[in-house]
Amino acid sequence: MNEARARRDLVRYSRDMHFAGWVANHDGNLSARLTDQRVVCTPTAFSKADVGAEDLVVVDGDGRKLSGAHRAFSELVVHLMLYGARPEVRAVVHAHPPFATAFGVSGRPLPHPFLPEAVVSLGPEVPTVRLTAPGKDAAAAMRPFARRCDALLMAGNGAWAWGPDLQTAWLRLELVEHLCRIAHAALPLGGPEPLPPEIVEPLLAKRVKAGLAAPEEGATIPGPDVVARATQQALAGMPGADPVLAARLAAELAGKLG
Ligand SMILES: [Zn+2]
Repeated sequence: MNEARARRDLVRYSRDMHFAGWVANHDGNLSARLTDQRVVCTPTAFSKADVGAEDLVVVDGDGRKLSGAHRAFSELVVHLMLYGARPEVRAVVHAHPPFATAFGVSGRPLPHPFLPEAVVSLGPEVPTVRLTAPGKDAAAAMRPFARRCDALLMAGNGAWAWGPDLQTAWLRLELVEHLCRIAHAALPLGGPEPLPPEIVEPLLAKRVKAGLAAPEEGATIPGPDVVARATQQALAGMPGADPVLAARLAAELAGKLG
């Protein structure tokens, strides 16, 4: 990604984020990956209304500062996790848009998909990730979803979106907030009707054809029982294996995962 363009877009979308009312105080963060070893991002402890091109921070692939007068934000670890999981992703945006954040803090998943056009833009899933402490724990909780989707809600921590450039990531976040707003308006009327599979499937096919699908979109995350069964099979298949011991180890693992 061209650095001058990335800087211009970071400043523009920081301000848009503030004036859209998606952040307060120092909330929100944005970054763009220039190369594998160069990520330019917003500074910590700044109102998004005040971020100028000269305030941006450049870090390496491990988050060490390369240039800039200010410090990077602590949630950078989440951005770096997403870049590591998705080589084609070049931009990550995070904010606390009120409607999306309301779904997260009340522990309600967004009942997506209920609007056909959003299926093409966001795919079949906009998950709500469990509440964690910000930083490393948030990155670990989000990791299983990084290759499955392009946007998610996080309980207690707003909404996240990523994409091949800042504009795409921004538009995804905007759409998530819009969907949450519509879902919220529909709730007193009985809530949005989920789309039936005969509507969703052709839209997903359209998304794949347009090259928009996330790499592991629609994949199921293996539950503890599936992992335990695979472990038991692998252990029991080893030369000289004790099948009883393999079963016991697999059951212990399932208990830990569950
Ligand atoms: Zn946040």
